[in-house]
Amino acid sequence: MKRLLFIFPHPDDESFACAGTMAKYHEAGHEILLICATFGCKGKPGGFTFTCREELANHRKQELLQAARVLGVNETIFFGYPDGGLAEVDVAELTARIRAYLLELKPDIIVTFPPDGVTGHPDHIALSRATEQAVLQVEQTKPCDFYYVSIPKYYDHCADQGPKPAVPITGKVDVSRYREQKAEALRAHESQIYSVNRAYPGVMQGDIGVICHYEYYTLIRSHGEPIEPKPCGGEIPVIELV
Ligand SMILES: [Zn+2]
Repeated sequence: MKRLLFIFPHPDDESFACAGTMAKYHEAGHEILLICATFGCKGKPGGFTFTCREELANHRKQELLQAARVLGVNETIFFGYPDGGLAEVDVAELTARIRAYLLELKPDIIVTFPPDGVTGHPDHIALSRATEQAVLQVEQTKPCDFYYVSIPKYYDHCADQGPKPAVPITGKVDVSRYREQKAEALRAHESQIYSVNRAYPGVMQGDIGVICHYEYYTLIRSHGEPIEPKPCGGEIPVIELV
């Protein structure tokens, strides 16, 4: 049994990026852990009325816990930083916080967003940087594989375009059997209906046609050594994280 740790800034990032992977490796008997750095209380609460930030934060926390149940996440850890404020958190503090969990949980595989943050969101970028620093600080003690997860199809259904990807994608995990679970996890983030509809139109209404059969990764460090990500000439190879 391997232990996989997913580190994301907002409730819903996990479902957008790698819900299929989480469900797949849970079913294969591995342990799935999730760190969520904020309560995501800046998101537009579609269809809901909240009297205060705390109420929205608590609601989003419950939505994430529901998505985590759907995906078989064994433990969800909340850091509770302000949504939209990760870039203002001292990078050493954020790194130390992640490092403490890496030392305690001793994951075999760590996954976070790439340095471009996929969407360019400052929270995504800040957490990616801090996670990489934390991995560098602990990998001699506890070797692991460190992956970025990308969402190359994120902007397929959006009018705008994302930032230029910072690293090439080097592998894709086949999640065809877990698309329903991914849809259910996305639907758990009910208050995020606007974002879900933007990237995954139809899913909230029960049509999973836009959910891709693959989720996309870049192996960036393995057992204490950097891996130079090389752009795939043709088709991205199918890989397993475990
Ligand atoms: Zn996010």
